[in-house]
Amino acid sequence: MKIGIDLGGTKTEGILIESSGKELKRERIKTEKNYDGTINGILSIIKNFENSFGVVESIGIGMPGAISADTALIKNANSIWLNGKPLKKDLEKILNRKINLENDANCFALSEAVDGGGKGFKVVFGVIIGTGTGGGIVIDHKVLQGRNNIGGEWGHVTLPNRSDDEKKYVKHCYCGKNGCMETYISGPGFASTFNLRFNKDYDSHKILEGFKENDPDCIFALEQYTDHLARGLSLVCNILDPDVIVLGGGMSNIDFIYENIDDALKKYVFTDTLHTKVVKNVHGDSSGVRGAAWLS
Ligand SMILES: [Zn+2]
Repeated sequence: MKIGIDLGGTKTEGILIESSGKELKRERIKTEKNYDGTINGILSIIKNFENSFGVVESIGIGMPGAISADTALIKNANSIWLNGKPLKKDLEKILNRKINLENDANCFALSEAVDGGGKGFKVVFGVIIGTGTGGGIVIDHKVLQGRNNIGGEWGHVTLPNRSDDEKKYVKHCYCGKNGCMETYISGPGFASTFNLRFNKDYDSHKILEGFKENDPDCIFALEQYTDHLARGLSLVCNILDPDVIVLGGGMSNIDFIYENIDDALKKYVFTDTLHTKVVKNVHGDSSGVRGAAWLS
């Protein structure tokens, strides 16, 4: 049995699964917005599971942000009370065993690689396109963390071959750079590029409604979106050349992407035949906890 915990800013969710992937138990609690409270929440989930089912073989935790390769402290977490804290070390000290701690996009990629949209493939690139944009690389069911612990961090590379229009109708990225993939293909990025171009105040849902009603601006927006996604993914294909790319996050529910991305990708990837598949995730919101459980 394995425990996976998805540590979010508002809720902490735990799952207990068998080695086959079968879910035995799930628990969701409110995340206390302070360090000690967060730790106690994690401990209570582990204790509840183990009191009912016995000691597990591994515990994994997924969270937004990263563990600094140099200091082993949390960095870039939107749960800001965790930044600069040695979460992994402290949990290991209290529990007296190894804890796996990983970025949530990496957990998503791992979950989908093991028994989701990337099942049966060797090299899987997982993409989160939701409120933000992230990515994770999994090879033979192992997360590729990289020397700086930023393997797969694809949201903050610049959209390739930006036109003058595309440079004009986009917001600056919070990371300090201009033209990041996230500012085009996250949900808020999709909406803001649309609103700047057409001088409107839509959110992504309203653009999708307009698309269904054949609004030409919204159709343009979806075509642009798929093209932006393909341009960004062509970089990944040219460097990593994955077997499959699995999409997750709210924007991954748009059918138009899957109907058109192959043709768009073929235009940009440096190959005559493109075998890489782009597929939708299987586990949806459960990928975070499931991927955390598969860490080892
Ligand atoms: Zn950025």
